[in-house]
Amino acid sequence: MRKKFVAGNWKMNTDAARARELAGQVVAGLAAQPAWAAKVQVAVCPPFPYLATVAEALKGSSVGLGAQNCHHEAAGAFTGEVSPVMAKDVGCHYVILGHSERRHKMGETDAQINQKAKAALQHGLTVILCVGETLAERQEQRTLKVLEEQFHGGCLGLGKDQMAKVVLAYEPVWAIGTGHNATPEQAQEAHAFLRSRAAAEFGPEVASRLQILYGGSLVPDNAPQLLAQPDVDGGLIGGASLDAGKFLKIIEAGAR
Ligand code: PEP
Repeated sequence: MRKKFVAGNWKMNTDAARARELAGQVVAGLAAQPAWAAKVQVAVCPPFPYLATVAEALKGSSVGLGAQNCHHEAAGAFTGEVSPVMAKDVGCHYVILGHSERRHKMGETDAQINQKAKAALQHGLTVILCVGETLAERQEQRTLKVLEEQFHGGCLGLGKDQMAKVVLAYEPVWAIGTGHNATPEQAQEAHAFLRSRAAAEFGPEVASRLQILYGGSLVPDNAPQLLAQPDVDGGLIGGASLDAGKFLKIIEAGAR
């Protein structure tokens, strides 16, 4: 039985005071609802400068901390970059890799994402690996091909034991930040397909344990239907994670 997992991607938002406040609101909301916390794994992924602040606010709670990216080297002459060792050192348990904004705005390739995933896993982080098709790719009926390529490319060379520390996030690019979420049927089709690819590449046991999150305009209103799909194991939440009330409602939907 896979546990539901709801993670907030704060992207390039908040300031130190707001990050502390938002993390505190999530911690307090979960403390008031122990049944949700028991059923749903929760994490927040603030911008790099606020990781330490948020780590402090999450202390003693069950809410995990994640970074939004990392470099593939542990240290060295990489001005402006943050290594997986640093993310781990500041208290991160997770790192988001391959987010569509990094693929499409920063030009990250599957090969680079794969390098980062290997480094993150080597240094003890759990990887939230994002995959997803653009609108044009969906309209050209290339969704499953794109998912297969991004999954294969991102996980290339990983062992079965390493795959136990990978969480997938299916995030259709056309649904991110647009208010147009995938339908539950579209999400289920993509998630079931990704699980079948995981079974083909890493075996049925890895596939059956793999958490696959849905991301893309997931909000309290559509969360119950999306999170009820058999292969949807939770959500990666952008906009709605900046509002603790909305984020907690999505967690509540995951706990049903
Ligand atoms: C995201 O950025 O991962 C995301 C899913 O954003 P939103 O929820 O705002 O669509």
